[in-house]
Amino acid sequence: MKKKCIDSIILHCSDSEFGDADLIDQWHRERGWSGCGYHFVITNGVIQAHEKYLPFNDGLVQVGRDINKTGAHCKGHNTGSIGICLIGRHGFTAKQLYEALPELLRMLMFDHEISLDQVHGHFEFSRKKSCPNISKEIIRKIAEYSV
Ligand SMILES: [Zn+2]
Repeated sequence: MKKKCIDSIILHCSDSEFGDADLIDQWHRERGWSGCGYHFVITNGVIQAHEKYLPFNDGLVQVGRDINKTGAHCKGHNTGSIGICLIGRHGFTAKQLYEALPELLRMLMFDHEISLDQVHGHFEFSRKKSCPNISKEIIRKIAEYSV
């Protein structure tokens, strides 16, 4: 199936030290949304609050919202974009940044013919946000590494 309507990817962070797609789904429903606003979530090894780091929970790619449905992650830019959320606030794990994310980007960029220039950080669309707390330079490097 051709999905030409998708033309960009926007990266986010959860701004939490822990979490997964189920927890974000819960948080977003509590805000009155129809469920997880991101299409994908990448875990950091800590799923629940006060849990210790578990390596097998690090770098898991989870589906948050069906990719054929419009996301709710970036005001004014939800149409045509895929939202990916890295669990974490300021620091991310090597598995998230250098394994799971590039692998996911590689697949999505290939499937949807998305170019390097179309991989963005949330902060590029909102002056008030620093999300995902990864510089444009690093985002670019990860995207380059993914193609
Ligand atoms: Zn964001």
